[in-house]
Amino acid sequence: MFIVMQPAATAAQIQAVCDRVTALGLRTHAISGDLRTAIAITGNPGVIEPTALEEMPGVAEVLVVTKPYKLVSREMKPDTTVIRFPGYAATIGGRDLAIMAGPCGIESREQAMEAAAAVSAAGAHFFRGGAFKPRTSPYSFQGMGLEALKILAEVRERFGMLIITEAVDEHSLELVDEYADMIQLGARNMQNFALLRRAGKARKPVLLKRGLSATLEELLMAAEYIMSEGNYNVALCERGIRTFTDHTRNTLDLSIVPAVQRLSHLPILADPSHGTGKRNKVTPLARASVAVGADGLIIEVHPRPEEALSDGMQSLYPQQFTDLMDEVRQLAPIVGRTVLPALVPAARPEPAMAQAPGR
Ligand code: PEP
Ligand code: MN
Repeated sequence: MFIVMQPAATAAQIQAVCDRVTALGLRTHAISGDLRTAIAITGNPGVIEPTALEEMPGVAEVLVVTKPYKLVSREMKPDTTVIRFPGYAATIGGRDLAIMAGPCGIESREQAMEAAAAVSAAGAHFFRGGAFKPRTSPYSFQGMGLEALKILAEVRERFGMLIITEAVDEHSLELVDEYADMIQLGARNMQNFALLRRAGKARKPVLLKRGLSATLEELLMAAEYIMSEGNYNVALCERGIRTFTDHTRNTLDLSIVPAVQRLSHLPILADPSHGTGKRNKVTPLARASVAVGADGLIIEVHPRPEEALSDGMQSLYPQQFTDLMDEVRQLAPIVGRTVLPALVPAARPEPAMAQAPGR
């Protein structure tokens, strides 16, 4: 059930409705859109008598949501969510495409800095790089953990890009929440419900990747888990699903982009790197992702892909990423999008004048 407030409803009226519902032992989620605030009720709203709420000041209507997902639904919030990052111009879900790029994993400080310099010069707004890697084999490179997070924080300082990196369990999520600007939840964890709930309590926005065999509804329900705990800054990501084809590692299901946009207000990005698994298919599918209306791209780029400890086969060479960005800038206006210039490090105050010795 959700309550649509009148456009002119006051903060006090919204609070009064929330208080009434909370008193019944249910949870409220007041989500403001461009035109009005809607208050979703989770728990068992069956105990509520809708007419009692309809009569409260500021209430426009009380609606019963028929879909299993509520907070993610466009019924609840008609305008697309725009995720903002305080102090940064980049957004996700607005007119500007969000461009995320970097290596699959952080392998050393040098590799990270080299990759960051390249993708920043090409115009990426977010730097990606795994610190905790969910690998098929326990003997494969598992990521540099905390050390990588510190390197990522240094990348942000030096290049001004926002940082996105994956959390694989509750412990790594706490660390990623502290060090990064956005928490990536990987395909393999899309239905790790404890982790989804924990991400719902995090302060940072979440990029939720589609599971290898997840349906649209399962993806939306996974996002619902995060939002049900109070974190409403969620972006989805199509990263390819497993099909019978063997010319690619996965099949990038771009039709999910308009399908999500019809049902949900959450932004959706595309990952043509994991979505194809083959370097020569990343650029064509990145173009297609922009054309289909994705809100951004996440692309693996490595300074020397042949030496990569993970996903080298699908990582672009820096020059290929630069060329891709040129194409994205040309394509964006055709679909009504813009591409922000590269972010630059925030101006820091001049260091205080050194005091004369002895004073
Ligand atoms: C990644 O982004 O490197 C990654 C492991 O992604 P996914 O969870 O989509 O496989
Ligand atoms: Mn990868």
